[in-house]
Amino acid sequence: MKKNLTVRSLMIVILLVLFSIQAGAQEKLDLQMLDRIRTEGLMNSKITDFLIYLCDIYGPRLPDSPQYVKAGEWVVARAKELGLANAAMEPYGTFGRSWELLKYYAAMTSPQYMPIIGYPKAWTPGTDGVLKGQAVLLQPKTLADLDKYKGKLKGAIVLLQGEQDLPISFDPMASRLLDSDLEKLVLAPEPGARRPMTPQMQDMAARQQLQQAVNKFLKEEGVGVIIEPGRGKDGTVFVSSGGSRAKGAEMPAPAIVIAVEHYNRIVRILQKDVPVELEVEVQARFTADDLPGTNIVAELPGADPKLKSELVMLGGHFDTWHGGTGATDDGAGCAVAFEAVRILKALGVQPRRTIRMAMWDAEEQGFVGSRGYVTNHFYDRTKKEKKPEYDKLSAYFNFDNGSGKIRGIYAQSNSAVVPIFQAWLEPIKDLGAATVTLRNTGGTDHLPFDGVGLPGFQFIQDTLEYGTLTHHSTMDVYDHLSRTDLIQAATVMAWFVYNAAMRDQKLPRKFVDLNVPPPTRGRN
Ligand SMILES: [Zn+2]
Repeated sequence: MKKNLTVRSLMIVILLVLFSIQAGAQEKLDLQMLDRIRTEGLMNSKITDFLIYLCDIYGPRLPDSPQYVKAGEWVVARAKELGLANAAMEPYGTFGRSWELLKYYAAMTSPQYMPIIGYPKAWTPGTDGVLKGQAVLLQPKTLADLDKYKGKLKGAIVLLQGEQDLPISFDPMASRLLDSDLEKLVLAPEPGARRPMTPQMQDMAARQQLQQAVNKFLKEEGVGVIIEPGRGKDGTVFVSSGGSRAKGAEMPAPAIVIAVEHYNRIVRILQKDVPVELEVEVQARFTADDLPGTNIVAELPGADPKLKSELVMLGGHFDTWHGGTGATDDGAGCAVAFEAVRILKALGVQPRRTIRMAMWDAEEQGFVGSRGYVTNHFYDRTKKEKKPEYDKLSAYFNFDNGSGKIRGIYAQSNSAVVPIFQAWLEPIKDLGAATVTLRNTGGTDHLPFDGVGLPGFQFIQDTLEYGTLTHHSTMDVYDHLSRTDLIQAATVMAWFVYNAAMRDQKLPRKFVDLNVPPPTRGRN
């Protein structure tokens, strides 16, 4: 019995291998073009030039902020210079209100002078001029703990949490996927029921509830500014939003996040009953609260009379958080998309299908830009209405897991694309990109496509310092991009997009029931 089973398993494996070789063999690959793409992409890359403009000169790009619009106009001009067609900032709907930082200053002035590393939370208002006063440490366990402060906190500079634990880390900051990691990724995850809510998760939910109630109380009391300890260390601060983009939403109290080492010093001094004098000034500006949201698009038009109305898309998200300059999240993805198209354009490629590059708005707020785009161009979920381009899209390729090189691709539960991607990767294995997993990945702009049954894919990328240092932090800057990884990624992206644009058929689709809402997952 056992032997039979083994023989049978072996037969199945052989059949699967034969099938995938056969399916792969059907892929006609232009290896001479691959050589040219490799030469242009690896030897003549322009990706750093794009990133210096985007990150250093234009800087962070909160959705639809004045900085976002300026940087977007620069990309559109650059796309036109390259000779791309239909380059534009394309509205997709209403975003709401945006926010920009004009000034930040904070220091401890007593018992000693210490400049404070910190960043205001986005979507929080500025302070009422320069606040000067004694730091007040509250540490409420319940809302009732704050009763004694009623009427005493007007204009106060408050800290809500105690000293933060900061263990020494012996783990490396950066890592690459090992062969063993990639082998594991190819295997299906263990089937199992959804994990129940753990005590830690319940604890977290309760803490969040208390936090909201405390913030409401402090706002009503007219507190001057709330100071929070940042996640991260070594002066790095992870900072995102402290308010809402929604039209007419209530304004929160001013709030800043400071380096945990500076936060802890202030707390320890206060706990010895030594007064701490602080100065804080924030100037911030909200935009109009009904701003239109815009994505950036540009095309390399298709040349085949029959196929040019069909599409291959590639992209990343253009919006960023405000603490750094949005280099790895996701300037990298925008630069990879732009460079991939530049490579093809430089080689005079005349794609059969139209290649459309997109840089999305407001990914960090829940794929707002790409969702709007999918609704307008492909499928309107609320109206249950297919748009003409729904049947024209071959695939969308996304790059948004930091600046690490491409190691392979998630096939997103679409078995039919696996042998195709394997065939495309075979001649570029030496670049380190060789893995196709059937697994899904979440958290990026391929999801709105995937959710309506369109082939949307995110690449498998080396992690580098994305999880430990740059993702949503003040150190998401040009210096923490790996330029050599990005040069590889743009070359691989150009090859993928080229193949998708040239093959006889569109990429096969998986079955999706459009009446069932897609699962929501976290964002990158
Ligand atoms: Zn991202």
